[in-house]
Amino acid sequence: MICVSIGRSRWKMVVHEHQALAAKGAELVELRLDWLSSVPDLNVLIQNRPTPVVITCRRREDRGRWRGTEEQRQTLLRAAIVAGVEYVDLEEDIAKSIPRYGKTKRIVSYHNFDGTPDDLAAIHQRMAKLDPDIIKIVTMANSPSDMARMLRLVKDSAIPTAGFCMGEIGMPSRVLCGKYGSPLTYATFSESRELAPGQLSFKQMREIYNYDAVTEKTRVFGVVGDPIAHSLSPLIHNFAFRSEGIDAVYVPFRIPEGTLAESLQALDPLGIDGYSVTIPHKEAAAKFAEHCDDDVRAIGASNTLTRNEIQQWQAANTDAPAALESILKGLSAPDKPATETDLMGRKALILGAGGAARAVGTALVRAGTLVTICSRTHKRAIALADEIGCQHITWENRGAGEPDILVNCTPVGMHPNVNASPYEGHWMHDRMLVFDTVYNPETTLLIRHARERGVRNVSGIEMFVRQAARQFKLFTGKPGPIEQMRLTVRRVISPLGDLA
Ligand code: NAP
Repeated sequence: MICVSIGRSRWKMVVHEHQALAAKGAELVELRLDWLSSVPDLNVLIQNRPTPVVITCRRREDRGRWRGTEEQRQTLLRAAIVAGVEYVDLEEDIAKSIPRYGKTKRIVSYHNFDGTPDDLAAIHQRMAKLDPDIIKIVTMANSPSDMARMLRLVKDSAIPTAGFCMGEIGMPSRVLCGKYGSPLTYATFSESRELAPGQLSFKQMREIYNYDAVTEKTRVFGVVGDPIAHSLSPLIHNFAFRSEGIDAVYVPFRIPEGTLAESLQALDPLGIDGYSVTIPHKEAAAKFAEHCDDDVRAIGASNTLTRNEIQQWQAANTDAPAALESILKGLSAPDKPATETDLMGRKALILGAGGAARAVGTALVRAGTLVTICSRTHKRAIALADEIGCQHITWENRGAGEPDILVNCTPVGMHPNVNASPYEGHWMHDRMLVFDTVYNPETTLLIRHARERGVRNVSGIEMFVRQAARQFKLFTGKPGPIEQMRLTVRRVISPLGDLA
């Protein structure tokens, strides 16, 4: 069950938000009395409560806002119990001095904002002796292994344990704790009102992660990268799972550079079924997996990890085929879809010499296209061209040569630098195809230049959605719902004009 926390300084706002949450279907609401600017009149808050409540009043040393005395605080908690609230939150050190009374259930809580102690099980055992109905343990995750240890504790506990980790690294545990038996997870009233680091809003918990549907049987997938907070992949995959009726959830794992192998090993006991892989881990993922597909071997980078029948990791690269499909879509006529043979002998100019250029370049060279790499740092262009077996030119010369296919594999034009383009409009010609791998915004300045000149063009959304759809197939065995995925991405990134 999702417990939604309300922390407001005015009691009228608390009552108002409580009613709004009940109208949206909240089943349990935590009232943070310590946030109120004056000692609260409990009756006003709980008399006609529209949902069951947890009464919590945190001290300053526990990162709460309580300004009264400790005696006043404990008196309030006792009064809540006498008034018959559904739950009261008692920190470990006061749980003994506030005895059980009536039907009120006791959440005995432990918070650690700095880290996840090694002796989690010992802390849990200590708390089990304090007559809890629910043990709540919330710690800061400083590594994925902290989160894995926490979820193991939740799973192995005989007493219902609401256990999860704070911070961006710990965020997945707020969604996954239900799978491992946690009776509660906590969410905020809205995205802008985080009461603890890494908290998700009630809306995100329900609409993106479908928390109430996460059970022991739910399969788990995720994206590994750093940074990861703004990844669109959780939205795309979770919405796709839901629309295809697949019992699975997809969460973002922030994994610092250089720690992929150890992090995935630490997460192994959680039985994660598969990962999307993004910057900076694509090369490390290729090295980590026991088996690699042909594209991964050719490119040396993987964006997808799945488990085979004997639980070994299998690395795939869906970027390269997705880029090729996008180019073929751009070359197709309404009555004549283009095929790979249409790429043979055509001239392609790729701007950039990073990971995307390597994936697109490898795929095009293999299809028989005459590829030229051009990058701001010429040394990188030479190195990539040598590696994949193609030509290179200097950045200054990119306007010459009249390529049939232009591919932008630089971030130039990406939000927020939307007024930049890596290629001048007057260099384009009317038999050209312009493919911009940048997908935010959908209509980059480069794409706009092409459209103004009637030049065929394909946006980065095409590649992004197609690589995700291929991952979906690898994860679930079912074709990815491309149209629905495209709509999801557009809804998130496009201003209204782009959607029209
Ligand atoms: P990367 O490995 O960091 O490579 C970036 C390349 O762009 C490098 O060659 C870099 O040149 C060049 N570059 C960066 N800033 C530049 C500037 N201001 N002017 C000229 N060149 C510049 O990144 P990546 O993984 O290849 O990704 C590149 C872009 O591809 C991303 O930003 C993303 O928009 C797009 N992408 C799209 C998809 C999709 O599914 N649609 C998938 C992957 C990537 P230097 O060496 O000189 O820095």
